[in-house]
Amino acid sequence: MRGKRAVVLGGAGFVGSHLCERLLDDGAESVLAVDNLITGNEANVRTLKPRAGFQFVNQDITEGLEVDGPVDFVLNLASPASPIDYANLPIETLRVGSIGTENALKLAEKKKAVFLMASTSEVYGDPLVHPQKEDYWGNVNPIGPRSVYDEAKRYSEAISAAYERSRGVNVRIVRIFNTYGPRMRLNDGRVVPAFVGQALKGEDFSVFGDGSQTRSFCYVKDLVDGLVRLVLSDVRGPVNIGNPREMTIKQFAEAVREAAGGGRQIVYHPLPKDDPKQRQPDITRARTLLGWEPKVKLEDGLRDTIAYFREVAARPSGT
Ligand code: NAD
Ligand code: UDP
Repeated sequence: MRGKRAVVLGGAGFVGSHLCERLLDDGAESVLAVDNLITGNEANVRTLKPRAGFQFVNQDITEGLEVDGPVDFVLNLASPASPIDYANLPIETLRVGSIGTENALKLAEKKKAVFLMASTSEVYGDPLVHPQKEDYWGNVNPIGPRSVYDEAKRYSEAISAAYERSRGVNVRIVRIFNTYGPRMRLNDGRVVPAFVGQALKGEDFSVFGDGSQTRSFCYVKDLVDGLVRLVLSDVRGPVNIGNPREMTIKQFAEAVREAAGGGRQIVYHPLPKDDPKQRQPDITRARTLLGWEPKVKLEDGLRDTIAYFREVAARPSGT
């Protein structure tokens, strides 16, 4: 990464801010974070602003994307990502996945840069194949409440593949599975901040459905390491990045209770429509082609995440 110039779209978000930090740590010459803060937070890049080569621009990537000078990597992470966020921002989610992604691809084409599309395990929908391999085409309801996100990401993959085939853009596609860590928003509705927040406040855990649905949680540092390996590789075609350690949501509530040393009992709420019943990445491609696998144990990742949320709660601004 030494001497390289990167543009990180969605750079003030949870994953984007960790990626910017890692690129700077690895010696990138410049890192430009572009973000309209629709679900992100400028506080996520506060510690990066004084660092040489880092710049933040508040801009909506659906309204065009101009960058001065050479660019080696265009890394597209811009999109609402939590089910509550994309339910509240359905049109914005579809527009950033479609128009925003095309603007990002055009920038990569113009600059002859490597383009990374941050796709998602949600392209597999409520999967009928388990664990999920990259060659599984998915089971997505095209008009359900999650479709604004799932179909936007499927379109993002399609247009990325089209720019690769017809215009020669150097495309990488990562399908990210549930990732957690510091800088998630406490109120983004995802299960990790929800349960950690509840544990810290001594509230009951809000388990949706009967809690038997499964997820596999990857710590953000591991994810970012996978992203960096992918953009530095010449691997074509989608690559799953996630932690194969699968557990039920009920087991996850127990893991958070244990790690936080607090929280009361589990209270059951209705399961949201089209909530996937099971999810576990098959990471054979990432292992064999990138030499990547997750290293951080859930217990350690949860400890750091809880410490972050405690620190945020203690800040006067609460952000
Ligand atoms: P996030 O909401 O924290 O970050 C997304 C960022 O994109 C935000 O800062 C938001 O303000 C920005 N953004 C949205 N629309 C924009 C626009 N039109 N112009 C400019 N900026 C815009 O979410 P995250 O968890 O950090 O997710 C980052 C990316 O990774 C997303 O594309 C998401 O779909 C993907 N992903 C994340 C996960 C996960 O578990 N965190 C899983 C799968 C995929
Ligand atoms: N979930 C839950 N309680 C919450 C938030 C989420 O039981 O307060 C469940 C949700 O129904 C899903 C799982 O946890 O089965 C993961 O949800 P999240 O929103 O974090 O991610 P995604 O559904 O996109 O995997």
